[in-house]
Amino acid sequence: MNNAGERKVVSLGERWRREATRDIDDQRLAAALEALPNIRKPMVRIRAGGINAEMEGAMGSIHEVSLQIRTLPMKDWPTLIRVLRRSKSIIEALSQARVPRSFDRLVARIIGEPLFPDARSVTYGCSCDLQESPCRHVLALHELFARRLDEKPWELLMLRGVDLHDTLTKVKQTEPDADLPPLAYDVPEEPVLYPDAEDADLDQSLGTPALRWLVGDVSPRAIDAALRALKDLPAELPSEPNTEPETAPVS
Ligand SMILES: [Zn+2]
Repeated sequence: MNNAGERKVVSLGERWRREATRDIDDQRLAAALEALPNIRKPMVRIRAGGINAEMEGAMGSIHEVSLQIRTLPMKDWPTLIRVLRRSKSIIEALSQARVPRSFDRLVARIIGEPLFPDARSVTYGCSCDLQESPCRHVLALHELFARRLDEKPWELLMLRGVDLHDTLTKVKQTEPDADLPPLAYDVPEEPVLYPDAEDADLDQSLGTPALRWLVGDVSPRAIDAALRALKDLPAELPSEPNTEPETAPVS
C-alpha cells in the first residue's frame, strides 16, 4: 500500500482506461485515439450488459462496435441494501451520482463480484475486418466510455444492470421490510461495522460471519445456541470459543 498522503485518487474513468489498455502498445493506442472522433456520438447506447456505437470508417463505411459485460446478479441485492442503510457516506455519494470505491468493495463483498469489472470480463465486437484484436474501434469505444465515466460515473451502474434510483429509494425506506430476516437479538439498529474511508479495505474489517451477523442472516437455531452459550459463560472467557463460528458475536 502507498504511504498516507501520497495516495492518489484514481478516477473511475482512469481505472477503466487502465484496464482496457493493459498490454496495448502505444502505436495501437495512437490509432485508437485517431479513430475516436469517428464515433457517432448520438449513436452511442449504454444499457445493462453492453455498450453499442457506430463509427465511421474509410470510404463512408459504418462499423458497429460493441462492448459486453454481464450484469451483476441481483439475488443478494436486498442484503446489500440492508447493509448500505448503515453507511451514510456511501449513500451520500450515490445520491450525488458518485460511485465511491467503498461501494465497489461492498458490492464485491456481498454480491460476490465487484461492480467494476476487470478487463477479462469485458468482451467486444466490431464489424470491421482489421486483424488487430481488439481493433482500434473497440479501443476507441473504451476510451470514450472512460471519458464518460469521469463525467457520469453512474453509467457504470447502468452498464452492470443496477437501478440506482430504485436502490436509493429502498435504502431510504424506513418501514421494516417483511422480506428480510429480523435483526439478530431484537436489537433496534445494526452497528456500523464497515469503513467509510475511500481507501479502507472492507475485506479486512468484515468477514462472512460478521456480515451474516450484521444483516441478521442467522438461523433461529444458531441464535438460540448463541444465547444459551452466553448464559452458560463462566465469569472468565475461555480462550477458545467452542460454539459454531457463525454464531460468534462481533466486537
Ligand atoms: Zn473495428
